[in-house]
Amino acid sequence: MSMEKFAASVREFLDGHASRREDAGTVEWGVGPDRIAYFSADPPEVDAAKVAQARAWQATRYEAGFGWVTGPAEYGGRGLDTLHDLVYDGIEAEYDVPDTGVLAVIGLGMIGPTILAHAQDHIKDRYLPSMYRGDTIACQLFSEPAAGSDLASLETKAVKDGDEWVLDGQKVWTSIAQHAEIGMALCRTDPDLPKHKGITAFVVDMKAPGVEVRPLRQMSGGADFNEVFLTGVRVPDDHRLGEVNNGWRVALTTLMNERATVGGEGAGPVARATSLPFLTAMLEANGVLDDRATRRRLAELYADQAATGYLNHQAIRRMRAGQEPGPEASVSKLLFAQNLTRTAHFAGEVSGPRMIADTGEWGTWSWTELLLSTPALRILGGTEEIMKNILAERVLGLPKEPGIDTKSPFREMRRSGSSS
Ligand SMILES: Cc1cc2nc3c(=O)[nH]c(=O)nc-3n(C[C@H](O)[C@H](O)[C@H](O)COP(=O)(O)OP(=O)(O)OC[C@H]3O[C@@H](n4cnc5c(N)ncnc54)[C@H](O)[C@@H]3O)c2cc1C
Repeated sequence: MSMEKFAASVREFLDGHASRREDAGTVEWGVGPDRIAYFSADPPEVDAAKVAQARAWQATRYEAGFGWVTGPAEYGGRGLDTLHDLVYDGIEAEYDVPDTGVLAVIGLGMIGPTILAHAQDHIKDRYLPSMYRGDTIACQLFSEPAAGSDLASLETKAVKDGDEWVLDGQKVWTSIAQHAEIGMALCRTDPDLPKHKGITAFVVDMKAPGVEVRPLRQMSGGADFNEVFLTGVRVPDDHRLGEVNNGWRVALTTLMNERATVGGEGAGPVARATSLPFLTAMLEANGVLDDRATRRRLAELYADQAATGYLNHQAIRRMRAGQEPGPEASVSKLLFAQNLTRTAHFAGEVSGPRMIADTGEWGTWSWTELLLSTPALRILGGTEEIMKNILAERVLGLPKEPGIDTKSPFREMRRSGSSS
């Protein structure tokens, strides 16, 4: 389909189902909501209502053929290319539509592509249309108390029992598990193999007996992520992703998609507040727009944001085109988190004490929520140090980090005191 025709059909759909954002492309300082939240800090009932709105909007989009623009037609996708997808995103940003991040970031951005690449056909049939229609939210059950950056040290075990697997262990930092219908879990299936080799990936029913989700409170106010305890959870063998003990390969699909997804700003309040028009308006409102040093810092921030955005587009285009992801996804994730951190600090310097004491003045204290979220952004989806290691090894060609034992059986490497 030609891009002109596609763009016209997107506008026609959005005109019929949403209203245009009055503030699209412009900023009137002091007008409208000034909240700048990256993570939700809403009470559970408000959060639940927003999730319902996200599901409803995703369903509307999907029924109109815009819910999965690049997906294969046999699983409910539109079969168009990544440029169509980016055009859709660009046009939708001009409209006032519900935030679908709860579906899009992890489920559609990371788990969906992994199911598409590694699941059996009938499992793709079962989950992909319902995920892209917004009926099924997916979470990522990877990290554990002793396995974060060193994810291959994970200890949640899966033991085969007939046609099923029995899962036991603990996951942590599981974002949106409280809303999820399914989770993608990495489990140890053979401790006698080296640590990267004895792992298997599964799609887990989050409502199954033995799955317990406990919320974790963040310093920015909300409880977006959780501990998830798996006790004797039974998973049918056909819910396995990829071959037994080949879960690391499967996980890499998810992780590379994660970096590209996290490294992009989208079109929400954070993207708006960190945009050039908003920051310029902020400087004007604070009487420092003519200050040369401040203007230079704004220009630097803008240039870095733009460069990171282009890098992220490159990563997303490669991934959505089904190509092997390159290090640009990791580098754009690293820079994205750094840019947001610098922008939040810049806003703090301009706003002064009004950022830490709520004076009621528009566009000042509201930055606090973003500032308090930035440490988490530098950790999630791979920490800053890990992204720098990737940059060093894969872009700069520096020697690989020493000390990663890829040959000894996992059983021999386990820490004392770990469970069996
Ligand atoms: C907001 C948020 C949401 C998250 N959501 C999810 C989710 O949905 N699902 C999920 O599975 N996980 C999730 N995570 C977990 C996230 O992936 C991990 O926190 C991350 O991988 C780091 O692991 P860790 O916290 O165990 O830190 P560690 O790996 O213990 O790292 C501690 C420190 O040591 C440094 N370090 C570790 N190894 C090296 C090295 N080789 N070289 C240099 N420095 C190193 C790290 O950079 C860090 O500063 C989330 C985390 C956050 C903050």
